[in-house]
Amino acid sequence: MNASHPRAAAMPLIPRALPDSFRLRLTLLFGGLFLASALLAALSLDKVLSDRIVRSQGEAMYGLASNIAKAIANNVQERHREVILLAQTPAYVRAPLDSDDLRRSLERTKQAYHYYAWIGIADADGKIVSATSGMLQGQSAAKRPWFIHGQHASFVGDVHQAVLLAKLIPAAANGEPLRFVDFASPIYDPAGKLRGVLATHALWDWVEATIRERLPAENHQQVFIIDKSGNMLSPFEAIGKVRAPAPQTSRQDFRLGLWPDGGDYLYSEARMNEAGLDWRIVVRQPKRQALAALNQLRATLILSGLILTLLLMLAVYKLAALFSRPLEQLAGIAERIGQGDERADWDIAGETQELRQLSRAMRNMTTTLLARKQELTDINANLEQIVAERTDALRETNRQLVRKATELARQARSDALTGLNNRMAANEQLLEEHLRYRRIGATYSVLLLDADHFKRVNDGFGHDAGDRVLRHIADTLRASARVTDFTARYGGEEFLLLLPDTDAKGGAVLAEKIRAAVEQSQAPDVGTITMSIGLATARPDDEQAETVVKRADQALYRAKVAGRNRVGLEEA
Ligand code: GH3
Ligand code: MG
Ligand code: MG
Repeated sequence: MNASHPRAAAMPLIPRALPDSFRLRLTLLFGGLFLASALLAALSLDKVLSDRIVRSQGEAMYGLASNIAKAIANNVQERHREVILLAQTPAYVRAPLDSDDLRRSLERTKQAYHYYAWIGIADADGKIVSATSGMLQGQSAAKRPWFIHGQHASFVGDVHQAVLLAKLIPAAANGEPLRFVDFASPIYDPAGKLRGVLATHALWDWVEATIRERLPAENHQQVFIIDKSGNMLSPFEAIGKVRAPAPQTSRQDFRLGLWPDGGDYLYSEARMNEAGLDWRIVVRQPKRQALAALNQLRATLILSGLILTLLLMLAVYKLAALFSRPLEQLAGIAERIGQGDERADWDIAGETQELRQLSRAMRNMTTTLLARKQELTDINANLEQIVAERTDALRETNRQLVRKATELARQARSDALTGLNNRMAANEQLLEEHLRYRRIGATYSVLLLDADHFKRVNDGFGHDAGDRVLRHIADTLRASARVTDFTARYGGEEFLLLLPDTDAKGGAVLAEKIRAAVEQSQAPDVGTITMSIGLATARPDDEQAETVVKRADQALYRAKVAGRNRVGLEEA
């Protein structure tokens, strides 16, 4: 059976790229569908998730900025209050400004707060009269903003580089110049008259430390502090290099966008408005880092989608195998039946209703087909039997017909009275012999014999006796002739002998022998009877056998004329 033919015929209906297996097709179909829906879900999730992530990152950033702003504000407030409270303590109101008590008080205060770089008192003229470690003592602070403003009210000065102290305080380890925030408060006597100004210089480091403490490590966030004129205050390396975007006007917790110095950032800012300082605390993070979580989420989504798809495809493949196994079983059974195993059973029990129905239908079909086949085989056997019988009958009929035809042919060529060949047979034989003579030169002779005075027999003994004599003559001729000679009754009481391969001499000998035999035999009723014989032998100029017969007849005539009971030879 040829399985490739029907498959080749069905092929054009299915795209060539598809595998030929039911399982693989289902697996690919489900895998593709699942992957497509997973991609769709991921795409729609992506938008929502990226919005959420940006929002949560942005809000966290705003939280950080506010937190730093609040911490700085608290600290500024604390330092501010400290200088005000110190300037109002009784010692500062009454004791001489250059007294040891005040000097010790200054040292204690400096020690209480790590970031104080210097605390000092200037008299009403601006001359520094007392200071921690005696630094700048005796110098004039009349031109310093803290003194100018501090005579009238408490003062907090924006960050600035050390002007006078720079040479006296060791530089920072990182090489940054020393920067301070100044706090100052007027010192009045009990009468309310200005005695001088108390000033503290806090190292800018405290702001940096405040930021450092709150900035999570390893997330590429940067914090900038910008004053109200838009000058960058921190970090030092950003001064003059990084330009912050314009202050956020609306109430917007965070923004995503391009910074003037280039680069896409997610950023947020909080204001620190305390004691005349108006700072913007800006926290930024490169967009790529801000969205790193999103990318990670995407990767996880894609990976889990792929793994799920693979698992699903595996499951579908197994399931499809489960579904296709009974079909393969049915196909196997069909193949076995096709190969001639008629006992193969369509039994695939325990499968689904549809498959059981299919197997039942196939079994019925097989049973029907096998029954038909058996019927056909029986009919065939029957037909063969009939054909054999008919053939036998036909053969027999044919045999009989042939026999009959042969008999008829024989009868047609034989003489009824004597059983010898008749004249027609004699003429045929003559024709054939003459052809042989003409073809290969085999000579032949013809004897023409006629009973003498036969009328007398009939007249004397009756016609039946005449017939009996004729039969007797025939028997005598038959006995005398050679097997090869052809004997025929040529007319009433006239006979013809055709002698193949016999020349005139041989013919004459045979003719005489016959003549003698007839004369010596005893014919019924009449006793002795004689015959006259004419002999002729074929000659090269004989066109046909009739010519030879004619010459024999002439020889016969001469024999009669010569006195009968003799052999007449032809003339030379
Ligand atoms: P001859 O030949 O010697 O001259 O004399 P004949 O008497 O034989 O003369 P012819 O040959 O002329 O006569 C032949 C006779 O033979 C005539 C006929 O009555 C007889 N005859 C021919 N055919 C038959 C036959 O089939 N049966 C019988 N009984 N007689 C026949
Ligand atoms: Mg005659
Ligand atoms: Mg005669």
